[in-house]
Amino acid sequence: MLCPYCDTLLQIPPLTYGKKAVCPRCKKTLTSYWEEPRKQPLLYALCSLWMLFLAQLFSLLIMNVAGIEKNIDLIQIPTVMLEDQYASMAILFIVLVQFLPAFCMTGIILLFMPIPIPVGLKIFLAKSILKLKTWCMAEIFLAGVLVSFVKLMTYSDIHIGCSFTAYCFFAFSQVRAFQCIDRRILWQYIGVTPPLKKSFILGQTGLSQGLYSCPTCTAIVILHEKKCSRCHTYAHARRPYSLQWTMALLFSSFLLYIPANFMPMMITETFGDKIPATLLSGIILLWSEGSYPIAIIVFIASILVPLLKMLGTTWLCWGIRKGNIDAIRMHFIYGVIEFIGRWSMIDIFVILLLSTLVRINQFASIYPDIGALLFALMVILSMLAASSFDPRLIWDSASKSSKGKVK
Ligand SMILES: [Zn+2]
Ligand SMILES: [Zn+2]
Repeated sequence: MLCPYCDTLLQIPPLTYGKKAVCPRCKKTLTSYWEEPRKQPLLYALCSLWMLFLAQLFSLLIMNVAGIEKNIDLIQIPTVMLEDQYASMAILFIVLVQFLPAFCMTGIILLFMPIPIPVGLKIFLAKSILKLKTWCMAEIFLAGVLVSFVKLMTYSDIHIGCSFTAYCFFAFSQVRAFQCIDRRILWQYIGVTPPLKKSFILGQTGLSQGLYSCPTCTAIVILHEKKCSRCHTYAHARRPYSLQWTMALLFSSFLLYIPANFMPMMITETFGDKIPATLLSGIILLWSEGSYPIAIIVFIASILVPLLKMLGTTWLCWGIRKGNIDAIRMHFIYGVIEFIGRWSMIDIFVILLLSTLVRINQFASIYPDIGALLFALMVILSMLAASSFDPRLIWDSASKSSKGKVK
């Protein structure tokens, strides 16, 4: 196969259960053979769907302030947001936390269940699952629940409901279901790997031999064929205008990052007084109340991570343009950026939860504000920027600069 990260042509030896193949050039895991590669994702997906269903039935958190008990369940969050005219927040919650995970889990069940389904549907499901898995944010929402829980602990008597346990199991099974799916093995179930008509030199890049790796199913495609014969994806040797797209999306997210930091993320209303809170003032409040670990987590996730991500991506794009780069280090940074980006959504989920929980009419109410929406858009744009970056450009640039040095 061609390494999807550095474009080196490699021969994968037959793997035994529990073993994985690592690319010798970029050190990325290419494929891993899980025990029971069909049954494991199926069981985890079934378990997670059932747990998601159970999580809808009971209370997620139960809060008791001045004798008034307030239960919050999952369906209440979008309902309250819709009542308050924050349809965008309600949609964000339904799509990222409920709909996409449920869709992906159903897709996994259909793909791995021993039932005959049309190949076209299989291809559609596999493509969708692989594309959408970074947008399934169940575990991030769970972290948001924990942060809100700690935030409210100082003000009220709060405890977790039955749904919380079910949601924990759902998030865990969902993460495990995605982990157990190996892209290469999944596509081998769907269709045979298209054979190569002649032999090529191992250890050299695909581009230098007129080949490229299909970004969807990892099949090797001849350069002049624009369409992969297995998954029918139209692809190119390198993502067209990858650097331009990355920089454009990154710059747009940076434009949103500035107002998102200065405009109020949420408004706290107590006895008629409206107190707007920005991202930074919220963290300072947490710190002054002595919730140091939560203040640090929110600071890292909401301020440091987006900033480092933007700086890191700019550095990657700039390094590739300039040449003369340390590819291993750059690739490591790209991996970190891709992994941590989505965790910035924690703060949005915290605001959603607080807005739903703290609605005790005359005493206190919390509402989201424009800053939260800008922040959510910023995270989405920076995630899109990271996904439009083609990591193979790092290695192309590195090999070009090393050739230059030899000359
Ligand atoms: Zn590689
Ligand atoms: Zn393909």
